[in-house]
Amino acid sequence: MYDRFKRNINYLRISVTDRCNLRCKYCMPEEGIQLLPHEAILSFGEIFEVVEEAAKLGVDKVRLTGGEPLVRKGIVKLVGMIASIPEITDLSMTTNGILLNEYAADLKAAGLQRVNISLDTMGAGVFKLQTRGGNIKRVFEGIEAARKAGLQPVKINCVVWDNSQEKDARAVAKYAKENGLKIRFIHQMDLSTGEFSVVEGGEGGNCSKCNRLRLTSDGKIKPCLFSDLTYDVREMGAENALQMAVGEKPRSGTYSKSSKFYNIGG
Ligand code: SAM
Repeated sequence: MYDRFKRNINYLRISVTDRCNLRCKYCMPEEGIQLLPHEAILSFGEIFEVVEEAAKLGVDKVRLTGGEPLVRKGIVKLVGMIASIPEITDLSMTTNGILLNEYAADLKAAGLQRVNISLDTMGAGVFKLQTRGGNIKRVFEGIEAARKAGLQPVKINCVVWDNSQEKDARAVAKYAKENGLKIRFIHQMDLSTGEFSVVEGGEGGNCSKCNRLRLTSDGKIKPCLFSDLTYDVREMGAENALQMAVGEKPRSGTYSKSSKFYNIGG
């Protein structure tokens, strides 16, 4: 489906939960966040309905994110449900990788095609500090499991302060190269001030080419990460909310007081 600015909107990113098993310093406050009540979170049936409607409108690419998508109970089942929609030809996930060793093979069998794994450093100590307690070994095990399961390609999302020549980023790039993994560098952003930039090695942040809609875990369609516009699928119905979001998708992002990486999934 084309928007007012002749962009073909074919990509839906779905945050399946607001919960996460890490507390990355640039993403979530140490004490965690005010979690949404369970009844506010869309059920699998509701998410499926949104994807079905989106597919009818021309969406063929879906990414599951969070929070951390692998902490959502039954995530493999949801992957299978979405993979059963014939129009969805590209189904991927963004994960911190902590639980991937456990799930990679089942996700692949259920129809997940590829995966992006977040990794900003190669140092176990730095990782533990940055994520407030995470064990980097589990991420490496998750990456290996994803490769073994045949999730292709495995991409690394590396958040940088300033640029990809930083020490940590260069070390992650080296690891990616040695292991045949693609890498994209995401500049640390502050959505509330409108400070955003293009993703090096990826497609994000380029408004003129933006083909994305986002669905939050509590059922809001967001046409732009850097805007406060939302359309509630429970209030409006999925088809209407999707159509309004495409119709009102801004030409370019400004800032968002309501979007946080942990509730939108990036
Ligand atoms: N938990 C999953 C993960 O870690 O990949 C999915 C959700 S996470 C919010 C999605 C992506 O957003 C991750 O690659 C993360 O590094 C990135 N991210 C979080 N906060 C960010 C920020 N302030 N600026 C840029 N990227 C950010």
